[in-house]
Amino acid sequence: MANNKAKVAFFDFASCEGCQIELTNYGDKDFLELLQHIEIVEFREAMSEKTSDPIDIACIEGSYTRQADCQRLLDIRCRAKVVISYGQCAGTAGINALKNHQADYQSFVYDRDAGMPHLDSDNAKPISSIIKVDYQVPGCPVNRYEFLDIISHLLHGKEPVIPNYPVCVECKRNETICRFLAGDHCMGMVTRAGCGAPCPADGIPCEGCRGFVDNPNQYALSKVLHEKGGLSLHRAESKSLLFNANERDNANKESEID
Ligand code: SF4
Ligand code: SF4
Ligand code: SF4
Repeated sequence: MANNKAKVAFFDFASCEGCQIELTNYGDKDFLELLQHIEIVEFREAMSEKTSDPIDIACIEGSYTRQADCQRLLDIRCRAKVVISYGQCAGTAGINALKNHQADYQSFVYDRDAGMPHLDSDNAKPISSIIKVDYQVPGCPVNRYEFLDIISHLLHGKEPVIPNYPVCVECKRNETICRFLAGDHCMGMVTRAGCGAPCPADGIPCEGCRGFVDNPNQYALSKVLHEKGGLSLHRAESKSLLFNANERDNANKESEID
């Protein structure tokens, strides 16, 4: 009998592979139910098999950082009906984009081993800078329940819904006391919701790991972190770079054009 399950593959580029690991944390019936409908054909963190066949859904983890990534990304795009950028490294270059701001980053990190040939790389970029991406799963790491929801929508022929409102909305829903009222700081007001705001609920600030909402007021962010959150201007600026360095760069370029 033919196997009608959707073929899903995971591919990794420059990343810590934490988003793949996140998926292996599933131990509940929802994931077992998902496996009734999909066949995972490549997933380096959990299996040794690889595929060069056509696939239904390619989940790509990690950023573009080397020219050699280009052909591999193009090959995946050619074989996949749907391409998902899986996690913030793939979606916006995430934390990898910090290196774009660090001159001579090899020496900064590896000191006398900085000349190792495999350290030679380009600026970190989102995979959408190389190939067309159909959907993005935000987060560092991804939220596995959100991923499940996105795959479920796709299997039912529906458009997945990714929130385009800030984490503050989820804080209000949870009746969490705002970190600013506790004398702290937070980046939730410009960060894309969907995680359920677990960090403020645990008494720690949102660090913006899901990237920004569309058209965030980035300059007000630094101002608020400084004036209301008590951070120095330098600290406020560098904090907002942590997961969003590429988006800050793009905003700076746009303001130069204006
Ligand atoms: S998005 Fe975060 S958890 Fe996922 S691969 Fe990148 S660094 Fe790791
Ligand atoms: S704690 Fe952060 S995310 Fe929550 S309401 Fe305050 S600023 Fe918004
Ligand atoms: S609250 Fe902020 S830092 Fe925490 S998981 Fe959500 S987006 Fe990431």
